[in-house]
Amino acid sequence: MPTELLFRQDAYLTETPAKVEALNERGGIVLDRTVFYATGGGQPGDAGRIRLADGSEIAIGTTIYDPEDKSRVIHVPLEGQAAPQPGDTVTLLLDWERRLKRMRIHTALHLLSVVLPFPVTGGSIGDGDGRLDFDIPEGGLDKAEIGEKLNALIARNAAVSERWITDEELDANPGLVKTMSVKPPRGSGRVRLVSIEGIDLQPCGGTHVRNTSEIGVVAITDIEKKGKQNRRVRIALA
Ligand SMILES: [Zn+2]
Repeated sequence: MPTELLFRQDAYLTETPAKVEALNERGGIVLDRTVFYATGGGQPGDAGRIRLADGSEIAIGTTIYDPEDKSRVIHVPLEGQAAPQPGDTVTLLLDWERRLKRMRIHTALHLLSVVLPFPVTGGSIGDGDGRLDFDIPEGGLDKAEIGEKLNALIARNAAVSERWITDEELDANPGLVKTMSVKPPRGSGRVRLVSIEGIDLQPCGGTHVRNTSEIGVVAITDIEKKGKQNRRVRIALA
């Protein structure tokens, strides 16, 4: 059974009841549904707790997709945790503080790709900071100017929303795809588009804030040269 990805429908869900479907040989816990984002697209998997019926808790260090079956999500416990039984009803509790910082950074990186409209070759999201790598033929990027433009977009208080389109619609609009390294997931017949009202539209399966105002002020902390054409731009929540 594929794990139901509740974070795709509502990134603000911090807990859910769930049923234990299986345990893998390394103690990883598969549930029928999850609010934990699984590692992907440069964003780390969520941490949090699984509360059992008797009130005891299992600390979860990270969340990944099952390498053998990408439709299943594995909650990876920290060392030395008790194990639930398949069939148990549990409550999943997300480490929301950390996730919200990642959502703010993730949404800010969408805006950074508008400020710097170049092909994106990589990226990563941390707890309060993140980066994008751009394929830029000429150097000379101005940190202060990029920061001003980015914060001006954030200050537009633009609504962020998601919708699904078919693969055919995506093929008819190839300009929607900005990332060269991360192709939007294909094969399911539909693709998830993330819209920042009046500013940006691109395929993405990640978690975002509902309005750019929630990002707050962001600083450009560094611009590095990575090879002849690559520029790595780092940002952080101020
Ligand atoms: Zn995104």
